Amino acid sequence: MPQDVKKRFRFNKLGHRLSFYFISICIVFTLITVSSLLLRQYIVDRETVYTEGEKTINAVQEQLARSLWNVDQDSTRILLEGMYRMPSIHSLRIVESLGNSYEYGTLDSEPDLKAALEFNGQDLGRLEVDVNKDLITDNVIDQMQIIILSTSLMIGMIGFILSIIVRRAVTKHLSAIRDANLDLSNISAKSFTPIKLDRPDYDDELSDLVETLNEARRQTVEFGMARESYENQLEYQANFDVLTDLPNRRHIDRHLKEDMHHYDHSDHRSKLAMFFIDLDGFKEVNDSLGHSAGDRILQESSTRLRRLFEDYSGYVARFGGDEFIATFQCISRSKAEEVAEEIINTFKESFSLNDSQLQLGCSIGVVMYPEDGKSTEELIRKADTAMYRAKEAGRNTFEFFDQTMMHDILLNNTIKTKLQGAIAAKKLEIHYQPLINLKDMSLTGFEALVRWEDDDLGKVRPDLFIPIAEKTGQIFDIDTWVFENSIEQVREWRTDFKQDFIISVNFSSTNFHHRGLHSWVNDHKVFLQRLDWVELEVTERLVLDDDPIVTKRIDQMLQAGLRFSIDDFGTGYSSLGYIKKFAHILSKIKMDRVFVNEIIHSNSDRALVKSIVTLADSLSIEVLAEGIETRKQEEILASLGCDYAQGFLYAKPMPASEVPGFIQQWNQTPHIISAKDQPS
Ligand code: C2E
Ligand code: CA
Ligand code: CA
Repeated sequence: MPQDVKKRFRFNKLGHRLSFYFISICIVFTLITVSSLLLRQYIVDRETVYTEGEKTINAVQEQLARSLWNVDQDSTRILLEGMYRMPSIHSLRIVESLGNSYEYGTLDSEPDLKAALEFNGQDLGRLEVDVNKDLITDNVIDQMQIIILSTSLMIGMIGFILSIIVRRAVTKHLSAIRDANLDLSNISAKSFTPIKLDRPDYDDELSDLVETLNEARRQTVEFGMARESYENQLEYQANFDVLTDLPNRRHIDRHLKEDMHHYDHSDHRSKLAMFFIDLDGFKEVNDSLGHSAGDRILQESSTRLRRLFEDYSGYVARFGGDEFIATFQCISRSKAEEVAEEIINTFKESFSLNDSQLQLGCSIGVVMYPEDGKSTEELIRKADTAMYRAKEAGRNTFEFFDQTMMHDILLNNTIKTKLQGAIAAKKLEIHYQPLINLKDMSLTGFEALVRWEDDDLGKVRPDLFIPIAEKTGQIFDIDTWVFENSIEQVREWRTDFKQDFIISVNFSSTNFHHRGLHSWVNDHKVFLQRLDWVELEVTERLVLDDDPIVTKRIDQMLQAGLRFSIDDFGTGYSSLGYIKKFAHILSKIKMDRVFVNEIIHSNSDRALVKSIVTLADSLSIEVLAEGIETRKQEEILASLGCDYAQGFLYAKPMPASEVPGFIQQWNQTPHIISAKDQPS
């Protein structure tokens, strides 16, 4: 039979199948029983009919022989008719020895019974009888009907009872188990209801099955709970900052969108104020006091901000690094201003780190929704820009975003794209600013300073585009280009003038994390030449970077003979302790212009310079003063023991073409040249 036809006739329910099997077996048994009963009945009936027939024959045999002897034909007929009427006899015949025969009914060729007819020892003939076989079959059929009827009834009843038993004992419980497992929703919940069967406590296979299932369900629930807690943890990690426990950047975006949505569907009575808060001087603290101190400051700052914004039912999140974003529903701009001021005040309180106290301010950019932007990115970008303005305005203050800042954003973007073109087209230029030895007023060398003039933007100040290039990574290409070209240039002047000029090149700390640095240092021929007249100007931040990769690169460059000087010393978290610590790396300290400016008025700065010079001297590190513009400054710095000077007093940075003229002039009359004579 084809498989699908078989399938169609298959019972899908266990109960039905069991009943079907049982009934089939019953029918087979019944058939066997009925057939054997009927066979027995047939044999008994047959025997009865034959016995009857024989009895009848025995009864009339003698009389019949006598009437034949007497040739009493009437008696013979009466006897034969009487016999013929007997129910057990179907037909009969007498065959006389003389040849006559009498027949009642039709006889088979071979009769069932035969009897000889004798009288007084004389053979008179024989009697042949066929018994009534219909009698046997009728009887058997009657019996069969009764048996079939009663057994069918019995089988039906047994089948019915059996299906009830199967249902109550098995299938009902199986269905219950199935139903309990169908409802899987309770398995993902924190608890589950074990399956319980509605029956006495048997210790059978069903109980085993239920027990196993319950155990499996319990494990599933446990697994589900573990997964849920893991997912919660993941969710937390994705949205919260582990250090401060504040929502993170990802969360901010979602939250701001909700806030904006809320505003859009409100009566617009209150707006949304957003603060971009950046800690002032955090990087220096982090670099100098270590990351754990930095972490503690971030945690403390978070606590302060959270406390403050709780009063306004606001929201505080960590945007990244030392930047926080806070929002709250506010009625007016002046209210936002008030809160910004409160933030500044919260940071006036000093931070306690171990035994020391530390003052750390913050700069804040403020934007309002909906005025300042429609999207979270736009709001954050503008708040960030406003924050930078606050930093420029002298830190520890706040600025609201205004349209003039839009210009900054656009300019930034323009610079980014245009700078890329300028680098590619080699449209950058290098200017050189002389470095003067204060001990003998000789020309020591030059600092290479990059210049960029764009067709549309005009001259773009390095102060403007260098920070952008640092952010985009373009600075690596700029610095390596300046490095290579200025070395070749100064090499020429060294030959032409037979003077050991040095070249000092600015090298951004971000370059040390650039993936191109390694191959650049390895491949560039300069690093094989031991050029001890090439100096790299780096900021304090670099030497404080304890990243092993950075240390490795610095070592590699030191090996190649390069020298390092610290640029803008005095603007960061300058510490005498660090000079000591990094003495093995440093050749020179370049004291920042701000420092130099102060020196005329401030006694304490003078004392500080003195101690820097003394310390540097003891470590064989030279000191250069940047931005010297007046003779007075020069005088003081020289008297304090400064080794070198750089500034407009001597010369502004100039294009390479003007340098040979300057060198000649300087060599003749070193003191007389002043910035006034120099082209800017
Ligand atoms: P810096 O390294 O401190 O360079 C000295 C800056 O001070 C130069 O500004 C120079 O023109 C200016 N300067 C020198 N003497 C005086 C003075 O007597 N008075 C005043 N007011 N200023 C003086 P410049 O060239 O605009 O460069 C600004 C900054 O841009 C540099 O500061 C340096 O940090 C960065 N920079 C310039 N060129 C490069 C470069 O090729 N690579 C990198 N990474 N940074 C560069
Ligand atoms: Ca410099
Ligand atoms: Ca400098």
